[in-house]
Amino acid sequence: MELYIHIPFCVSKCAYCDFLSGPSDAGTIRRYVEALTAEVRACGEMYHDRIITTVFFGGGTPSILTEEQIVVIFRAMRESFRLARDAEITIEMNPGTVTEGKLRTYREAGINRLSIGLQSVNDRELKMLGRIHTFADFETTYALARKVGFQNINMDLISAIPGQTVESWRGTLEKAVSMNPEHISAYSLIVEEGTPFYARYGEGGEGLPSEDEEREIYDLTRRFLEKSGYERYEISNYAKPGFECRHNKGYWERTDYLGIGVGAASLVNNQRFSHIRDVAEYIRLLAQENCSGRKGAESAPIKSVSGQTAAIKSVSEQNASERIEKIVTERETLDVQAQMEETMFLGLREMRGVSIPEFEAQFGKTVQDVYGRVLSTMEKEGLLRVKDERICLTERGVDISNYVMSQFLL
Ligand code: SF4
Repeated sequence: MELYIHIPFCVSKCAYCDFLSGPSDAGTIRRYVEALTAEVRACGEMYHDRIITTVFFGGGTPSILTEEQIVVIFRAMRESFRLARDAEITIEMNPGTVTEGKLRTYREAGINRLSIGLQSVNDRELKMLGRIHTFADFETTYALARKVGFQNINMDLISAIPGQTVESWRGTLEKAVSMNPEHISAYSLIVEEGTPFYARYGEGGEGLPSEDEEREIYDLTRRFLEKSGYERYEISNYAKPGFECRHNKGYWERTDYLGIGVGAASLVNNQRFSHIRDVAEYIRLLAQENCSGRKGAESAPIKSVSGQTAAIKSVSEQNASERIEKIVTERETLDVQAQMEETMFLGLREMRGVSIPEFEAQFGKTVQDVYGRVLSTMEKEGLLRVKDERICLTERGVDISNYVMSQFLL
């Protein structure tokens, strides 16, 4: 199973962002960390039999937490869960929010992958996006991360932003590649309702690159990054060989994942569920004591399953699950049809596509049985192809991937 831990705080809110994130005061952050730690311990009791293969600290800006707060969360996580020895552990961070000391603490805690929000190398574009940093801030943060010894770094870039030209985007790609990160995520801006950007630009409004420019930017990204040694392994993600993000691959391959923190979503045993999105309410429901009803320091995980210990465990597991249930807002059990749909439309996001034998082994039916008509139409239209017993998008299919994926809804 994978773990996702949500830290919903940022220095300030970017103009295009609709994530569950925003500025907050030190007291709220402190209480949130207490509540989060309580949830970590409770979940550890519920899922003590699962091996954790990846952990992703996302947000928000997790690097806004102090070194002590990171240590407290990690201590709870390591005491509560069984982490695989080679677990990929990522933290998202923004330039200007880390010091060398903080980066060293990350390394000591076991974090082995950084994901840094750069977005653009152009300070005018960064300002327009409402980012808190300049490109020089990014360079400083990146150099510190290398100095401290991080060897697996992702840069987040964002294209198709207002006023951006193909040339300014080329400049961002060139600078990004010259810094030699192991991984680059390059997403196009989506103007989301409710953001300042939506009020300013609407959907596809004036000031945004035209459809032709967007296509050119998109083609340039693929050509440039592939030529520079980055393989596109997902629609918007590029990596040097061996540096694909294992955590995100898990999402597209429907590996079980447990979301911890306000607003976090999970997929466990074919149930999808998510948490309440109100930080104050989340803190109220979790912060006072840990979820087994004992104070945090006494809540070491119960590993033995024999005799009296097992009896204690079942009570504490039950208490933990009752407390966690209070912060769950939506829960959906996926039937076989929904599982097949997800397998297709998530799996097709990866360039290597969906394995035909694995589909059959999982569902006892061939892809042909379930999707024969869709597959032959899409193949004829040049949107899908079958290669090495896998179904994957063609270049044209990637261009209109939303349409292709929607065809797999039964
Ligand atoms: S730093 Fe990231 S999460 Fe925070 S407001 Fe900006 S885009 Fe949103």
